Amino acid sequence: MTSPEKLESLDPATGDVVGVHLVDTPETVAAAVARAREAAAWWGGLGFDGRAEVLAQWRGVLTRRMAQLADVVHQETGKPHGDAQLEIGLAIDHLAWIGSHAEKVLGRKRVSPGLLLANQAASVEYLPLGVVGVIGPWNYPVFTPMGSIAYALGAGNAVVFKPSELTPGVGVWLADSLREVVPDHDLLQVVVGRGETGAALCRSGVDKIAFTGSTATAKRVMATCAETLTPVLIEAGGKDALLVDEDADVVAAADAAAWGAFSNAGQTCIGIERVYVHDRVHDRFVEELVRRAGTVHAGTDADAKIGPMTMAGQVDVVRRHVEDALERGGRAVVGGADAVGDRFVQPTVLVDVPEDCAAVREETFGPTVTVRRVRDMDEAVELANATRYGLGSAVFSRTRGPELARRLRSGMTAVNSVISFAAVPGLPFGGVGDSGFGRIHGPDGLKEFTYAKAVTRVRFKPVLNLTTFDRTPEQDSTVAALLTALHGRATQLPKMPRRPLATRRDRS
Ligand code: NDP
Repeated sequence: MTSPEKLESLDPATGDVVGVHLVDTPETVAAAVARAREAAAWWGGLGFDGRAEVLAQWRGVLTRRMAQLADVVHQETGKPHGDAQLEIGLAIDHLAWIGSHAEKVLGRKRVSPGLLLANQAASVEYLPLGVVGVIGPWNYPVFTPMGSIAYALGAGNAVVFKPSELTPGVGVWLADSLREVVPDHDLLQVVVGRGETGAALCRSGVDKIAFTGSTATAKRVMATCAETLTPVLIEAGGKDALLVDEDADVVAAADAAAWGAFSNAGQTCIGIERVYVHDRVHDRFVEELVRRAGTVHAGTDADAKIGPMTMAGQVDVVRRHVEDALERGGRAVVGGADAVGDRFVQPTVLVDVPEDCAAVREETFGPTVTVRRVRDMDEAVELANATRYGLGSAVFSRTRGPELARRLRSGMTAVNSVISFAAVPGLPFGGVGDSGFGRIHGPDGLKEFTYAKAVTRVRFKPVLNLTTFDRTPEQDSTVAALLTALHGRATQLPKMPRRPLATRRDRS
């Protein structure tokens, strides 16, 4: 018998091995899913109150051990301890919301049966799917997968989680922490491995796959899930834009742009990668952004506000984007080609970059940002929307924020801040286009892991029984009269400009 394959997780700042894990095979993945199915039967039967109690206990464990979990996140991703704590804190806050809202969102509700079926009672409730497979990325190894794990659990499912091969230790830690609360049930299990383990989870017969990762991998995941008609939720990449209007608080906008672009070394799906600034405030904005960028550097020293690139291969993507932008006429007003090292990338601000460059069109996923001058906000909206992605966005404007936000084709927009929508548990999180479909967080995020169950019940004998072979022609006439009375009235259509008759004839 061959010994099981091992996966080493590394500290990306030093390359040191920080953990060794056994790789799961399709057989061990299938066994985990079978155990999860038993757990799901118990968990689904527990009801909202019982589940809320367990989730509250888990929340307590996570909160008390926050520093310990932050250490594991720091070791595997290299991000500063404070940033690790922030993502854990947000995940805990979502967990609290789930506990107190699941019943309200998913519980049985009466629905009007309508006039034709007035003799019936109608209701809908949202039932758990059973077992949900979660495939997660490495950039926010707690907050991001918990957006699926916690909401799937809150909706009554058991979960089998495949963390990124870069952050298996975080995944194992999370599962162990829930096991402390429910030692007898495999409510949350972790399967470790690379893409093949993820693919095995897709084929394992789970009732849904919640995938967070790149658009390219999302397509492979969908193709694999199609083999078994397993439904998928896709949270993929982004190329988020920030708009700065002429009346914006420029200092606040530059501060937010710096955080949105450089925090977590730019490895944020909803990070700011492009900025479009009104001509009237452009120079002031760039000056302020340059000043802010100068106060941030990547490193391992105590003052470093950003860490290393977690995935070594991403450094090459960042280098390619920066070099291409510079070769095509762009200028680096902060950082530049020399800012891209082996493990660390220093903040980089690029201006005058043509819109068809990779730095503007593709996800860079590094601490870099392009800034472009626009004549007005119409041009800003047009350029911001000229992307296949549509995850998040931000607008800085004193007077037109909500109006501009609505015109941006993205799942989420922050007005006069960045990224804040992710921290509001009641709001749905997700994108359009190449950024994926489906939603985590909020009521939509709970419903995502359920199926709608509709029930009608006869309350009294109907005056007109529509679904019987005993229906008579007289009854059909009554139905026709009833339908005419209900829906047959001529409605006043809004006045449309009439085309001249000649044109109509010409076209026929
Ligand atoms: P990847 O797409 O490389 O990987 C995501 C997950 O899928 C990993 O666990 C990976 O395993 C697994 N995987 C790889 N191949 C397969 C396969 N064939 N079948 C099933 N699973 C597979 O993304 P990253 O981990 O690099 O994460 C970064 C990306 O995630 C960025 O594009 C970012 O924008 C996006 N993201 C999106 C978010 C959102 O909410 N919309 C939030 C956070 C990140 P392994 O790591 O072992 O290869």
